[in-house]
Amino acid sequence: MSSFLSLFKASNLSLADLELIKVTPASDNKGDKTSALYNQVRWKAFLHLFRWVITQYEAHLSSLKTLDFSDMISQGIEMTQASDFHQQTQGRFRFKYIMVDEFQDISAERAKLVTQLRDSSPGCALFCVGDDWQAIYRFTGSDLRLTTEFKRVFGETRVVTLDKTFRFNDRIEKVASSFIQANPAQLKKTLTTHTVSDNPEVCLLINSKETGLAQAFNSIVEAISSNAEASSKSTAGLDSDSGPGKGKAVGSTSVMLIGRFKSSLKDLSVWQKRYSQLQISGFSAHGSKGKQADFVIVLDVNDDKYGFPSKIASDPILEALLPKLDDYAYTEERRLFYVALSRAKQTVFVQAELGKESVFVKELLKFAADVRCYLSDLAPLYIESLFCPECKEGKLIPIEGRYGLYYTCSLGKHYCDTKLDACTSCKSAPMLRNDTHHVCASEKCDHQLPVCPECISGKLIKRINSKSGKEFLACSLHRMKDANSCQYTSRLAG
Ligand SMILES: [Zn+2]
Ligand SMILES: [Zn+2]
Ligand SMILES: [Zn+2]
Repeated sequence: MSSFLSLFKASNLSLADLELIKVTPASDNKGDKTSALYNQVRWKAFLHLFRWVITQYEAHLSSLKTLDFSDMISQGIEMTQASDFHQQTQGRFRFKYIMVDEFQDISAERAKLVTQLRDSSPGCALFCVGDDWQAIYRFTGSDLRLTTEFKRVFGETRVVTLDKTFRFNDRIEKVASSFIQANPAQLKKTLTTHTVSDNPEVCLLINSKETGLAQAFNSIVEAISSNAEASSKSTAGLDSDSGPGKGKAVGSTSVMLIGRFKSSLKDLSVWQKRYSQLQISGFSAHGSKGKQADFVIVLDVNDDKYGFPSKIASDPILEALLPKLDDYAYTEERRLFYVALSRAKQTVFVQAELGKESVFVKELLKFAADVRCYLSDLAPLYIESLFCPECKEGKLIPIEGRYGLYYTCSLGKHYCDTKLDACTSCKSAPMLRNDTHHVCASEKCDHQLPVCPECISGKLIKRINSKSGKEFLACSLHRMKDANSCQYTSRLAG
């Protein structure tokens, strides 16, 4: 509601205009008539509430005789629009340049104010600094086209490219720049870097989160000690090639964990305790903008609702007032991921769970020679074409548990709690059930066990009677001390 209120106040629309808006359903439901109708009904209901809220809100502001930020901008626009503005401000309003920093975040309304201030001061020029690759605030009304189409909007322009980066090395630059420029809507730029590296500095950790993070931290500790060694060997002060993290004391080495959402950072304090010699911080991807660290670990880059790219569609109600997006897939999320990648001075790690790698990880894997990949030992057991037998949507993910190997559904236990044992014969593939048997999924293994006729989910496995020494069949779900577990047994045939 508050986001909508700010967007509405910045939009110059009236309440009557809102009534005329046709809300389009989230992109995956386009063309669906029920969904279109639902969205329209929801929009009407929302407007009913909104009318009340905005009336109360404005009454509250005026009772306090105060303005909010949107009012300041819109009243500024009104004042500068007045025909006598220049007369009134003569002698007081003489600007040669109006400077706007972080220009990529500007909204249409604010751009209008800036333009009018320029136009009402003769000889005044706009001086704007911005990077369209890092535009990540569309949800607050920022319109990237004001940057990418600057000349069309603001007139004759001289562009000065700030193309040298002092933060990251050439290896991160190569990957990050190609990644962001895959979207043709971004401006083309060639960056040069102050530092160079002999090794790939983008590392993919495809593993469980716990193991992936451990690998990243081990590699960071190793890098610090080899940096220290290198700088003690080189003549003091003459090693111009040393990276930003190099030659530093361990205690001043910074590591930043970045999650698409803050929920990815829950275990931050655990890692802080474990690696107390490092300065570890944690930010959401949005919160990381403008910050930097020697090493960066981007977490949970999974194909998931709360992964990276996030698959949460913005609400069609908010979408109705937001600036248009270019139609490249995940365009805003791509810029956000670029921001995360480019926070690192020396090395950036990207962690994804085996079998759940997001499209961004799959894209990074294609930079073969420029990325280092730490792949889980279980990776050879993962079969891309094998779907979860329950939901038929998720993939089967191998996991090394305390009692051996098993498989779970990639959609996660909140959506699908499938858990399959690994085959006891080949000890690698999952056992899949058909009408009569549990069959090993591996083509190279013909192991199978009958389905328990009583509970219809357990497997019949051989056991030995401790007294008679005779073999018999029992259900795998039988638990010694649990009377409620399946009690089925049968004699061995033959
Ligand atoms: Zn499933
Ligand atoms: Zn097998
Ligand atoms: Zn059973």
